[in-house]
Amino acid sequence: MSQVSPQFSDDRTIVIVGGVAGGASAAARARRCNEGASIIMFEKDRYVSFANCGLPYHVGEEIEEREKLIVTTPELFADRFNIDARPRHQVTSIDRANKTVLVKNLETEDVFVQAYDQLILAPGASPIVPSNLPAVENVFTLRNIEDMDQIKQTIDSGLLSGEMKRAVVVGAGFIGLEMVEQLDRRGIYVALVEKDEQVLPPLDFEMAKLIEQELKRHSIELHMGNGIRGIKTEGYRATGVELDNGEVVPADIVILGIGVRPNTELAKACDLELGEMGGIKVNEFMQTSDPSIYAVGDAVEYQHGVLDIAMRVALAGPANRAGRVAGEHAATGNSPAMGPVYGTAIVRVYELGAASTGLSEKLAKRMNRKAKAVIIQGGSHSGYFPGAKPLTLKLVYDPDNGRVLGAQAIGAAGIDKRIDVIATALRFQATVDDLTDLDLAYAPPYGSAKDPVHIAAFAAQNDLRGFSPIVPPNFDLVNKQIVDVRTPQEHEKLPPVGGAVNIEVDNLRDQLRELDPEKPTVVICHSAKRGHIAARILLGHGFSDVSNLTGGMSIRRLYDE
Ligand code: FAD
Repeated sequence: MSQVSPQFSDDRTIVIVGGVAGGASAAARARRCNEGASIIMFEKDRYVSFANCGLPYHVGEEIEEREKLIVTTPELFADRFNIDARPRHQVTSIDRANKTVLVKNLETEDVFVQAYDQLILAPGASPIVPSNLPAVENVFTLRNIEDMDQIKQTIDSGLLSGEMKRAVVVGAGFIGLEMVEQLDRRGIYVALVEKDEQVLPPLDFEMAKLIEQELKRHSIELHMGNGIRGIKTEGYRATGVELDNGEVVPADIVILGIGVRPNTELAKACDLELGEMGGIKVNEFMQTSDPSIYAVGDAVEYQHGVLDIAMRVALAGPANRAGRVAGEHAATGNSPAMGPVYGTAIVRVYELGAASTGLSEKLAKRMNRKAKAVIIQGGSHSGYFPGAKPLTLKLVYDPDNGRVLGAQAIGAAGIDKRIDVIATALRFQATVDDLTDLDLAYAPPYGSAKDPVHIAAFAAQNDLRGFSPIVPPNFDLVNKQIVDVRTPQEHEKLPPVGGAVNIEVDNLRDQLRELDPEKPTVVICHSAKRGHIAARILLGHGFSDVSNLTGGMSIRRLYDE
């Protein structure tokens, strides 16, 4: 652990570009580490240190008071931190040789030169906007308070005049889904357009499908596998969105949430090195290729903890942590290193939430990383205690060494806890065996003695040890002996797959003679729990090749919808 003198203080000048998540964190930490430094933070927009993540919720009036989103004002920065925070000041270039930046006061148009000893870049990212977008007044992206105000004013006046009936949200990522829910809250009919075949593209297909069902349950019109070709207009107003398949979806307001690109213009113009993913390249102290210049947040590439490569991760947690590291290092020349990131994220979609950390199976495949996964159904807490909500947890692991690679969870409660536990395990390079051993807090209102994290790890461990092997939910069952151990009542709700032999798990020992012990066998139940019991019975009776369909019919059916 690097040491820092509690009395450290000198008169260096630290200049910060960008005054929100990463920039404000860096500024505050720099002050705490160096009382004598001169700290100047330039922000081109009107507000510093606001809560970007809360913006959608004020549009939907779930956060009623706009002021709650303004976390800190320039006055507070001055009074409490002795930080000179200057909104409406844009840094337009960096002169590395002379260690100065050129700044434009956007109120007065004045341009001036500001010298620095250390410079911290936290310019964030910009929403991607299709190049052929016409100049219209009711198509928006959402990145800052100004965007939010414009969207809200358009909605408020449209609802008042009766002209705000339909919205189209383009992009089913985190911000897109938050906007869907918040527009719906305002009583606006919402259509969601997504180029990918699924919502929440970072998630694996079957997990995203559970969220898609939730959207359908709330009557959201879904257009999956369809990009936008253009915007239909009348005068200066958009009237609809034209999809790649030619269909036109009518709209009184359009929200674009199709991703962000890192703001690297300043860095590029002064020849700072960029990484392979297009973000600013930094070391573990957030220093760029010029050690006097730091960079943090959505504009940089972080070291990914599982893939061990530099990647862009546009999330608030890493931006804040990196800001803290850069602030301290810039202020003292010393700091703990920035740890790796895992892309841990969560979003609420009506009554469900979706959370993930580390690698999905999809990302593992794209990165040529060997991976296997179990899917289990659990409860937010003990089923017998009132209020327990079901959750689905997917655990991704390395089939060769059992290292945990990632996880995804969908449910109405308790998914944050499970994903945070697994994110913590990832940080310590845990294996599936380690997860089975975690000593987690339990009382009936909070969890289960065998937590869903344990259950997923047990299932993965059983698979790795060959004790109860699993196959994926969409496994090709041709030429397999399929044993469905569900009840006839369950079959009525969800018919067995073709060719299955139906034997309830409780009758399996008595009906073994109906099965061929030499044939490769896949057992199926609703969630894979009874499948595991059935697999153990068959293996215990000498069947040579038995696997359990992970996730059971509850997940397999999602592939047939
Ligand atoms: P920002 O916080 O965007 O700050 C960059 C600032 O730099 C901007 O204000 C910009 O105006 C300013 N700037 C840029 N160039 C200059 C210049 N040349 N001169 C002066 N100033 C400049 N993440 C999560 O983890 N969870 C969430 O729930 C979540 N929800 C989100 C919801 C929305 C609507 C949005 C937009 C983002 C959300 N994020 C969320 C992402 C998160 O907000 C970002 O990852 C984080 O803010 C990045 O921090 P940053 O400092 O890099 O950039």
